[in-house]
Amino acid sequence: MELLGDTYFMCGDLREQHLREGPLSTWWLTPPGIDVDSFSARLGTTYDLMSHTFGAPAHPYRVFLRAHPHRGANASAHPASFVMAMNPSRPLDVGSLYETLAHELVHEWLHLDGSDHEKTWFVEGSADYYSLVLPLRAGMLDQAAFLAAVNVAARECYANPRRGLSIQQAQRLFFSDFLAHRLPYVRGMFYLADLDARLRRETAQKVRVDDLVRGVVRDRSAGEQIGISGWCTRVENTLHSPEMPHLDDLVITGAGRPSEDAFGSQFEMEMVDVPVPDFGFDSSTLVTGHVRGLVPAGAADRAGLHDREDIELPRYPEIVRMNVGDVLDIKVSRGGDSATISIPLTGATALVPQWRTRQHTTD
Ligand SMILES: [Zn+2]
Repeated sequence: MELLGDTYFMCGDLREQHLREGPLSTWWLTPPGIDVDSFSARLGTTYDLMSHTFGAPAHPYRVFLRAHPHRGANASAHPASFVMAMNPSRPLDVGSLYETLAHELVHEWLHLDGSDHEKTWFVEGSADYYSLVLPLRAGMLDQAAFLAAVNVAARECYANPRRGLSIQQAQRLFFSDFLAHRLPYVRGMFYLADLDARLRRETAQKVRVDDLVRGVVRDRSAGEQIGISGWCTRVENTLHSPEMPHLDDLVITGAGRPSEDAFGSQFEMEMVDVPVPDFGFDSSTLVTGHVRGLVPAGAADRAGLHDREDIELPRYPEIVRMNVGDVLDIKVSRGGDSATISIPLTGATALVPQWRTRQHTTD
């Protein structure tokens, strides 16, 4: 059954429509609307970087690009491959495209065993974490792009309208509510970043979270089953104090916050009050552009939106970046006329950690 879920069929003439570079190959039927040469080159470098970091030898790896008519891109990882869907007429910017491919690559190596709510935070959190920190360390991602991604993730985590959910509750909504869906990703990422800082602090910079992850990859490939308690044991072997309370705080309940030095001493952190993006309609509206579940007297209702009408609004990552006092502009078409409806972000706010490059002062 698992094999069937990982099976993809691509029908058509692929003789000209592929690119091979060492063990890597990229395949497409519809021209994907991106520079496949530079996409594949970046993929190759990132693949080498990751297989080296995770202590896993390189092997044949295939990327399949397919066309879809929607906004943005989505991707799913399978053994030795990933499939990425994108809209050739509205290609993603290079930065977002790279984040997605780096995230999918991590899935080739990093897994835990156990039920979904016990492992998804690690699988998706480590993919979000390493897709940012490894390219940063290798100079493939500059500090500004790294910080932008980390700070958006912090907002998605700590100002999420679903932030009060436990990881088990979030897992139950994983496929039906995109806000709950993001929680295991972002909580897992900030837990790993925080753990890396604790390990470095306690071992005078000798042990990193990479070392633990490499051990997991090695022992799982030798047939060992490693679940959440096995993970905690591995951390405790180095830190000599119970790990479950940290996991509970940062992942299971999400009540904790990562430490200031979670991403290294070159960054400093401050807590910023940011809007909780809750506009008085069902959160699916933000993805589908089709108003659902309008809350009477809620922000959208007060601004004049109607249930079940089609709207045009910024992509969710842009909405998450908005600050208190900003205004969300929504385009509505009614009877051939289009109007702009503005919703001021004056609702609930939450304190969220945001990092910036540390300014070195000389005295
Ligand atoms: Zn993923």
